[in-house]
Amino acid sequence: MTMASTTEKIIAMDVWQVSMPVTSQRDHGIGSVANAIDAVIVRLTSESGVHGFGEASPWVVFTGTAENSFSALHRYLRPVVIGSAIGDIAGTMEIARKSIVNATEALAALETALLDLAGKCFNLPVWALLGGKCRDAIPLSVSLANPDFDQDIELLQTLRDDKVNIVKLKTGTCGHEFDLMRLEILRADFPEFDVRVDYNQGMEPTDALRQLKDIEAFAVTFIEQPVARQHFGVMANLRANLDTPLMADESVFSANDMLRAVKEHICDCVSVKIMKSGGLTHSKTISEIAAAAGMASYGGDMFETGIAHLAGTHMIAASPNISLGCEFYQASYYLEQDLLAEPFPIKDGKVQVPETAGLGIEVDMEKISHFAVSHGKE
Ligand SMILES: [Mg+2]
Repeated sequence: MTMASTTEKIIAMDVWQVSMPVTSQRDHGIGSVANAIDAVIVRLTSESGVHGFGEASPWVVFTGTAENSFSALHRYLRPVVIGSAIGDIAGTMEIARKSIVNATEALAALETALLDLAGKCFNLPVWALLGGKCRDAIPLSVSLANPDFDQDIELLQTLRDDKVNIVKLKTGTCGHEFDLMRLEILRADFPEFDVRVDYNQGMEPTDALRQLKDIEAFAVTFIEQPVARQHFGVMANLRANLDTPLMADESVFSANDMLRAVKEHICDCVSVKIMKSGGLTHSKTISEIAAAAGMASYGGDMFETGIAHLAGTHMIAASPNISLGCEFYQASYYLEQDLLAEPFPIKDGKVQVPETAGLGIEVDMEKISHFAVSHGKE
């Protein structure tokens, strides 16, 4: 094949907002999801007609709105990208980050698309552009968040058949007794599962320590973000008084948040997400700051399609310190349909790191057209 030049220009950018139907309600400490999730897909086109795809996966109560991601890309980042060289990824992202504040999901989508495009042009997987890989597969965790626990028990039986053996119980939504009841059933009937719990900020600070002592009796692997993201002092106090590792998620979006988390001793481990940090490279940086402080990292996600899952997969493949697995389950276990042309790759309970160029799986344009609610182009 003829190799593209690194100076080849990006000449077009398409942006779609999509509404993706989901199979059930899910309750989290900060809010619920039902019916459908919103995502924004960006497609870059090079002079030679190669496409690069990326996804913004916002959640209104966590990172922001789909409308914000759409306009960030379509209106404000378009002039940064059009005419930029396909090899200048870091430079383009530096200008993009200075062009708009807070739009972390849109920036993640843009960096994903730039990496996918460059990877396809130079015939390298995205992980190779990030420094090469350190793993071929990533253990998958599936979250249990259905208010109807009988449906989650059916899901657990499916997971067992699929050889998935990590689950994250979403707690703090329907009362402490509901959480203890579910943990009792999990430990009794599904003893082979590695169980983690995630409050998504759902605990009251005054109740947190006493209730988390009850949770510790179930020997969960970690307890994630029990209290509101700004309560660094409460997190530090919980960490000092619990034996179970405490994970920060909503408290740590950026590298600066991670530095503060280290200085204030608020956690033992951190959930790294490209939608919080604004891209793959910044997520790698956060995992490296965490590692320097003796902390492990976990590959978190938002409500995503397979496109964002693939971006996270390549990022984790190139990040030695993200050792606690990932939660890229929505495309396979939650969405009615995905946007990828082939199933998101999971085998024996592990996400398989693609070996082919770019993100490694094609996007199904017919599905994007089908689920699109708006389309921005020049
Ligand atoms: Mg979380």
